[in-house]
Amino acid sequence: MSNYSALFNPLDLGFCKLKNRVIMGSMHTGLEETKNGFHKMAKFYGERAKGGVGLIVTGGISPNLQGRIHPLGLQLSYPWQVKKHKLITKEVHKHDSKICLQILHSGRYAYHPFGATPSTSKAPISPFKARGMSKLGIKKTIWDYANCARLAQKAGYDGVEIMGSEGYLINQFLAPKTNKRTDEYGGSFENRSRFALEVIRAIRKKTGKKFIIIYRLSMIDLIKDGQTWDEVVTLAKQLKEAGVNIVNTGIGWHEARVPTIATMVPRAPFVWITERIKKEIDLPVVATNRINTPEKIEEIIESGKADLVSMARPFLADPDFLLKAQANKSDEINTCIACNQACLDHIFQNKISSCLVNPKACHETEYSKEKVQRAKRIAVVGSGPAGLSFAVEAAQRGHKPTIFEKASEIGGQFNIAKEIPGKEEFRETIRYFLKQIEVLNIELHLNKEVTIDLLKSSDFDEVVFASGVRPRIPKIEGIGHEKVLSYPEVLYQKKPIGKKVAVIGAGGIGFDTSEFLIHDPEHNSESMDKEAFFKHWGIDTDYKDRGAVAPKEKPAPFREIYLLQRKATKHGKFLGKTTGWIHRQSLKDANVKMLNEVTYKKIDDKGLHIDTPEGSRILEVDNVVICAGQYSDNELFHKFKELDNRPAHLIGGAEKSMEIDAKRAIKQGVDLANKI
Ligand code: FAD
Ligand code: NAP
Ligand code: SF4
Repeated sequence: MSNYSALFNPLDLGFCKLKNRVIMGSMHTGLEETKNGFHKMAKFYGERAKGGVGLIVTGGISPNLQGRIHPLGLQLSYPWQVKKHKLITKEVHKHDSKICLQILHSGRYAYHPFGATPSTSKAPISPFKARGMSKLGIKKTIWDYANCARLAQKAGYDGVEIMGSEGYLINQFLAPKTNKRTDEYGGSFENRSRFALEVIRAIRKKTGKKFIIIYRLSMIDLIKDGQTWDEVVTLAKQLKEAGVNIVNTGIGWHEARVPTIATMVPRAPFVWITERIKKEIDLPVVATNRINTPEKIEEIIESGKADLVSMARPFLADPDFLLKAQANKSDEINTCIACNQACLDHIFQNKISSCLVNPKACHETEYSKEKVQRAKRIAVVGSGPAGLSFAVEAAQRGHKPTIFEKASEIGGQFNIAKEIPGKEEFRETIRYFLKQIEVLNIELHLNKEVTIDLLKSSDFDEVVFASGVRPRIPKIEGIGHEKVLSYPEVLYQKKPIGKKVAVIGAGGIGFDTSEFLIHDPEHNSESMDKEAFFKHWGIDTDYKDRGAVAPKEKPAPFREIYLLQRKATKHGKFLGKTTGWIHRQSLKDANVKMLNEVTYKKIDDKGLHIDTPEGSRILEVDNVVICAGQYSDNELFHKFKELDNRPAHLIGGAEKSMEIDAKRAIKQGVDLANKI
């Protein structure tokens, strides 16, 4: 009997039954546009269906050329395109799962010059101006939606999801911000909502009664001149009559400067708005955004706040999420930490999406599930992300790894990362690995520093060196002064630190250290305190104005910080594509002073002496924290190679310190385990 009886309670839609309350939400993975993309997508979706997902929604597919997100984006408009989609639907249906195709017209978010929108305008996140649609263009687009849905039905999809949120075309019709039309598609709300309702009616007419239509409703636009709450409710009430079966939740336009899914967003922060809509309408509603555990899903469904929960990224992190939950093994789930590093950031770099904690995601066809012929005894030096991912993958393939860790706990630098306010989710990755060590019966030696003698006297077949990195200490006069601290001393050892601090180095760790320092350790961070999060980012839960935007209430910084770098480039230029702006905004809101083109002269009792393009100055600080990058800790590997013939491998930060992050460390571990 599962602990999650509400989660696994089937939902009857009248003409079809969903086997549980979890939807895998729409994700563009980049596979859509690759060679053999449909085979790869069939495998990708098939694995998630096998893993127990009740209903899958595909990545967004355009109903016509103008609606494509980018020039080569997928479109479903012609009968000859149906055959390829059947590969996906057949694979998913093998596992008693349902699948809906998401129809997404990008409107003015098109990344090409043919974009079409209610009134000619340019979105701040697109370089192209989109053309205002003629009335004929609107009628043709409605037909294109219905045609796309009918083709999806022919391809075996159980239904479609109509993307009506996140600032895409339908949302652009609904909001006065982007709809300045004076005909029957603009002006009053009745007119602005006409397009959405006509699209749904046309789809229902063409596909008949036994076809799921999900509508992704923008419940809170989070932009000025968005919709009012009354308008959202009015549309929600009309959706059923128009033919919708399920209402999904959309939160915020893509151009809104409010984080909605990143790791510093508290878990399940927007369920309140789904709950409010549920009280107004007689259709199943879906809660979304930053829901990543079975416990949270159960709580939402059981309390009646929503009928279903949609999660997307957690199924990249672990395709077997639901199988594990059903078997009451939720502590074995590889939890999505909401970092965006390998999923969304990849999409913005035109790369195939994957997952930091599960590099096999979207690359299912490249990894075999076969066990090895001969089990090898392998010593793993270090239990950071690289050593852990290697050991777990190697054990799953049938090898016998033994982990040695000189610290008293596993995790390596992740133990430092998890101390940063807003990165609490990183604890889940360490919990996952610790549980896998137990489940796979991997030998683990903590407080055990590996030496050449230990290795020489052992009978391991091979050795994997995942000994990581050490902080770089720059050559600055006075670097040995008592006010100088390294980032591990501040973040991990929690050494006392004054109220005025200079941080040397503005890479990812310099930013994170500054984030740590601006917070009062006595108070919960915003990722733990929803009210503080709403206030800081200007989310009006009373929904007083259009778009529910409120003035931001910036938290008072706990310390005065200088964040310094030698480069002339903008601070944080190399942070994550989809999260860098949040880190920069957060430090800006805390009045962190960011200086570039800095030359460090000396550190003494007075403080940090620097030269800047504006002249020399002394930063009269209590402490100077060094975040000046790292170097590889790999001397042991080189010594071993000199003295021993057994195969030795170097992975993670120990292999290359430049730009090392957990994404590369974990992937290297998994990839090596698949070769060995
Ligand atoms: P490490 O994590 O350094 O692990 C090496 C391990 O080997 C250590 O536990 C060490 O004790 C052990 N070891 C070394 N020598 C021996 C020996 N002789 N015997 C036994 N054990 C030994 N990355 C991201 O991708 N995203 C982030 O958001 C992110 N945030 C970060 C925030 C902070 C504050 C910090 C410090 C790091 C962050 N990182 C982030 C970086 C990420 O944690 C590292 O890139 C990653 O941990 C490197 O993994 P690794 O396994 O190669 O090395
Ligand atoms: P980093 O990004 O390489 O930054 C190092 C900083 O130190 C730079 O700002 C550099 O800037 C400065 N620096 C380098 N040598 C110096 C010297 N000799 N003297 C003074 N300053 C010096 O490295 P990091 O911040 O240590 O981060 C390590 C890795 O962890 C990164 O590669 C990153 O990917 C990962 N990480 C990621 C995240 C994330 O959110 N994704 C967060 C934290 C860490 P100047 O040369 O201009 O001074
Ligand atoms: Fe989640 Fe990060 Fe993986 Fe994306 S890359 S699915 S955010 S853990």
